[in-house]
Amino acid sequence: MSRFLSSRLSALEAYTPGEQPQDMAYIKLNTNESPFPPSPGVLAALNGQEAARLNLYPDPAGAGLVERLAQHYGVNPENVFLGNGSDEILSFAFMAFCDGERHVAFPDISYGFYPVYAQLYGIPAQVIPLAEDLSIRAEDYCGLQKNIVIANPNAPTGLCLTRSEIERILRTNPGYVVLVDEAYVDFGGESCAQLINRYDNLLVVQTYSKSRSMAGARLGFALGEKALIEDLNRIKFSINPYNINRLTLVAGEVALEEQDYYDARCKNIMENRTYATKELRRRGFFVTDSRANFLFARHPVLLGRELYSKLKKLGILIRHFNKPRISDYVRITVGTREQMDALLRAIDQLLA
Ligand SMILES: *Cc1c(COP(=O)(O)O)cnc(C)c1O
Repeated sequence: MSRFLSSRLSALEAYTPGEQPQDMAYIKLNTNESPFPPSPGVLAALNGQEAARLNLYPDPAGAGLVERLAQHYGVNPENVFLGNGSDEILSFAFMAFCDGERHVAFPDISYGFYPVYAQLYGIPAQVIPLAEDLSIRAEDYCGLQKNIVIANPNAPTGLCLTRSEIERILRTNPGYVVLVDEAYVDFGGESCAQLINRYDNLLVVQTYSKSRSMAGARLGFALGEKALIEDLNRIKFSINPYNINRLTLVAGEVALEEQDYYDARCKNIMENRTYATKELRRRGFFVTDSRANFLFARHPVLLGRELYSKLKKLGILIRHFNKPRISDYVRITVGTREQMDALLRAIDQLLA
């Protein structure tokens, strides 16, 4: 820390991303990326003419992509906001809707960025414990009179609320924004995207990083009532109007034309999830019923930290969170069948 850093930030604990090692080839099951490349059309488009136009700024409105996303999700373009990854959208939403009077609430075990944004913007946060079985209790969020942020499916547990549970939260907090972070919804969750016309306090946030194999392109989007989207744009045009680069805008559009490719990859991941869950349980693990592209698991003997470091030595990266309540657990991204078999072989070796 330099002596110049604002005192406002001196206590800020930054988010710790999962490791992105550049030194050797791990089987990478630690940051919930897709094991599959983007679809063929996306790759072709990126090799094309758009790169030659990088001398020019991109469209700050991203109108082409906004239009396609609106069609894809059956909403109007005025209901769509684009972000440089959904992390940027979360950041803008915390900034736009929360303050010293309008507090925020989120679960104790959830995406690690929520408390970071609350701290960064000086927003008082009510952190609500998950139930004993690691589920989110919808009733804990009813009538809170606070902005609410819920990942659905939740991370790192993989557990879901139903759409009607989210609706109860929306109905009982009409004066506050309910942000539903649907980063993993394409792996078997129930999306609330279709509810945005019924609830003016609903903001649904999704990403291309997981189900659309584009974590490296940095593209997320939000769906919500026109006025909410305008508020996000007010922030964006005050920080970084060109937040999505030209190549990513093109990739995002073409990916929507190849939805079948992504649906098939998601289906494969879900099959591998069923397989790996069963195999881990056979080996004595407790594994939640994940609806995401990761597993949340605990072994009675090989506890979180130890399992993480031993697998790393064997060339397999998973994620361990050194946090109360979940320090015995690990989060394992669901990859290809081959990757899951390599993981299981390594675990057998460690248990032998
Ligand atoms: C991965 C993830 C995101 C962010 O993804 P981006 O790459 O920034 O789009 C947001 N929320 C949750 C819960 C995630 O796991």
